[in-house]
Amino acid sequence: MILDATRRPLQLTALPVPTPGPGEVLIRVHACAVCRTDLHVVDGELPDAKSALIPGHEIVGTVATRGAEVERFAVGDRVGVPWLGWTCGECAFCRSGRENLCPRARFTGYQIDGGYSDFAIADQRFCFALPVGTSDVEAAPLLCAGLIGYRSLRMAGEARRLGLYGFGAAAHIIAQVARWQGRSVFAFTSPGDVEAQAFARDLGAVWAGGSDEAPPEALDAAIIFAPVGSLVPAALLATAPGGTVVCAGIHMSDIPSFPYDILWGERIVRSVANLTRRDGEEFLALAPKVPIRTRPLPYALEQANQALDDLRAGRLRGAAVLQL
Ligand SMILES: [Zn+2]
Ligand SMILES: [Zn+2]
Repeated sequence: MILDATRRPLQLTALPVPTPGPGEVLIRVHACAVCRTDLHVVDGELPDAKSALIPGHEIVGTVATRGAEVERFAVGDRVGVPWLGWTCGECAFCRSGRENLCPRARFTGYQIDGGYSDFAIADQRFCFALPVGTSDVEAAPLLCAGLIGYRSLRMAGEARRLGLYGFGAAAHIIAQVARWQGRSVFAFTSPGDVEAQAFARDLGAVWAGGSDEAPPEALDAAIIFAPVGSLVPAALLATAPGGTVVCAGIHMSDIPSFPYDILWGERIVRSVANLTRRDGEEFLALAPKVPIRTRPLPYALEQANQALDDLRAGRLRGAAVLQL
């Protein structure tokens, strides 16, 4: 028997344990972090989700059984399962190191059942080994908040003064990496959210304020983690000529029109979509060197709806993680 969380609101249901295909592993889930993308999926804001879906794409667990062709992992190995669940391996994107853009890609907790469950099935080629010395709940947020955050940080280039808009699960990890790399972090929260600003300073931000405030110095780059389109012109205004504004989320409210002046000066606005396996290998190798200390906020599987509500309401100072 497993617990299955179906959509709107998530309901726990007993289902038979699934059987892995030849190249797949069956994972006993120990922890699954809760991502803003799960909210977008549950709220129906993303197209083409699987029906009767089990959400969750930051899965940590141990291999319970494996298909006949699995050679990367043994039964009992600890593995992590990220958002990228399958790619075609044949298209122009896959063949040029950009499998994150594969038009046939399938994603965990979206087109493939995910980790809000006792068991999950994953293609062995898309699973990661995890850093030793981190607990399951500490490791889970690395798998999306960390990984997509890391790809976003790479897209920000060599920026010394880095703005982070929205200081949640991803920013609390990326601030640590940015600081370790010698960058100065400027944290932007909802106006008046002094608690989140204190959290950001705690993690080494040199400045923290509301997203309606100007930073004390112009930024070299900004990463927007909050799904709020009006932050794009706000971040452009705060960014120096030649700087990049990275939109890190899968979904964002419409971006209001803005004067060309604030884009002029070779400023760049770009999005970051998904991840490649290479991003994952690089980031998970880097995590223990920093070392990244995530702040997991544990919930029982039965509290998944509460965790999603707390994320929606902006009540979290760290990363919500379902602990099984
Ligand atoms: Zn492809
Ligand atoms: Zn995610």
